[in-house]
Amino acid sequence: MVKYDMTKEERENKSRRIREKGEDTRLRHASMRPLTVELKLDLKCLNNAERNKLFLFFAECRWLCNYLLGLSNDMFRDFDTRTRCITSLDKDGNAVARKLTMPAKFIQTVYTSLKQDMASLAAKRRKTGKRNGKLKFRSSYDSIELNQYGNTHWICYGPDGNKNGKYRNTIHIAGIKRPIRVFGMEQIPAGAEYANARLVKKPSGIYLMLTCYIQKHEDSKESETKPDLGIDFGIKTAITTSDGEKYDISVREPERLKGLQRKLARQKKGSRGWRDTKRRIQREYERLSNRRKAIANQAYHDIVTGRKLIVMQDENIKGWHKGLFGKQVQSSALGTLRRKLMSNPNVLLIDRFFPSTRMCPICGHIHNDITLSDRTFACPACGYTEDRDVKSAKALLLAGKHEIACRCPGQTPTPVERMSGFDASYEAWKRSAMKPEAPASKR
Ligand SMILES: [Zn+2]
Repeated sequence: MVKYDMTKEERENKSRRIREKGEDTRLRHASMRPLTVELKLDLKCLNNAERNKLFLFFAECRWLCNYLLGLSNDMFRDFDTRTRCITSLDKDGNAVARKLTMPAKFIQTVYTSLKQDMASLAAKRRKTGKRNGKLKFRSSYDSIELNQYGNTHWICYGPDGNKNGKYRNTIHIAGIKRPIRVFGMEQIPAGAEYANARLVKKPSGIYLMLTCYIQKHEDSKESETKPDLGIDFGIKTAITTSDGEKYDISVREPERLKGLQRKLARQKKGSRGWRDTKRRIQREYERLSNRRKAIANQAYHDIVTGRKLIVMQDENIKGWHKGLFGKQVQSSALGTLRRKLMSNPNVLLIDRFFPSTRMCPICGHIHNDITLSDRTFACPACGYTEDRDVKSAKALLLAGKHEIACRCPGQTPTPVERMSGFDASYEAWKRSAMKPEAPASKR
């Protein structure tokens, strides 16, 4: 914030120093690898007043955010972040005067992040020409940006710079005097440089998502290479690879959750017991989504490490949610895994209309009579038999290799006499799919 007793020259010098320092940091971080660790705050080490203060930060951010959204455009632009007295609406829609007690940095981040949201909304509007509506009022504000390490949050080393001893595993958050014990510090590798963070409120507690920068080291694991892989996304067994491996990444909703939901329906809405059950349901959902995330990460890691080429089909999982298989797909981590895979540079997507379940990977015959209940594929033309999903994955891998061979510059297409039955059939399918009314293949 600008102090008014500074002269114009001093102010310019100061902002130049800040700019240069930021530039240095950015350059240094460019050669490093960012890593976000999740640290859980141990709220038991705080007293009641401090704990309430921490929760109040989230409420104050919500009041401020909604207050800012209610301002006119001019008033929003000229908002002074030194403002401490605002009004907000309570449950019944009455205006209540609120006094902000949270650190000034938090006020600034709420304001700047809103400004960014509005700018991106306006940019979108300019691009599409459509009105996208305005930002909605928030019913909760669960994530506070802590954008300046050393000011909004810092790790305590104790008076003697010692990481161990009394100050071990504690973190300081602006506005709370006492250092707060955290769980999960062991995730941070030695020599990491701390950067910005987010304070996140979840049903199970408050977490600090701390971004660190660590040295990029030459990956020794990368030298181990595994063969290229085709992946078939199915419904029954979730994922099948061309190596014949199957991953079941579905996570069912636990019985306990159903029981809790029944209990909630019986209880009086708004009562103490009702609220208690509601909180337990939220925690159960959080646990469920954590498990899904963990399973998706594990499968992603298994699939991706050491591979140069991974081929999958550009299927429309969003469509599945709506359709027949909605429940089963939803209870798996499939969507997360797909998103992760699609952002990987080694993944090649094959057109979603490619008949991977029907085309024989040996002779290229298209077996039209195969139904969903047939678990094995038996080619009527060459007699090849294979598990249905493994076969699909193999066909996808072949299609991917074919695509890459076509794309290599200077490489002439394989002469017809050397083409395998699969290649010829794939070529023929591609030509027929390239008709103007059929969707063109992506990538
Ligand atoms: Zn065949």
